[in-house]
Amino acid sequence: MFDCNLSYIKIVNEEKAGLNSTFNMICQMCGAKFQVKSSKASESKMDINEEVVAGIMSTGAGYTQLNTVLCHTNIPPMSLRRYQSTHDKVCQWWEKTAP
Ligand SMILES: [Zn+2]
Repeated sequence: MFDCNLSYIKIVNEEKAGLNSTFNMICQMCGAKFQVKSSKASESKMDINEEVVAGIMSTGAGYTQLNTVLCHTNIPPMSLRRYQSTHDKVCQWWEKTAP
């Protein structure tokens, strides 16, 4: 019906959850709304927050060092609350997989 293409797509807003973002978009031609996520999680794959927290933990570092690295790479910091909940989840996974 409409001759939609990418040039009509506008980002309405960005919902941030740690390092994960969800971009809400709208087609300015037909009004269709949709979302694009910056990171996908699945049963077998960690999301970006879990990956980065597991990575910083494996180096022996923690919350302050993670946010220092994020600051130097111009990425908004992760909240302490999100870091702690993600840290707890990663610890549980490591306990389960420990020999
Ligand atoms: Zn459209």
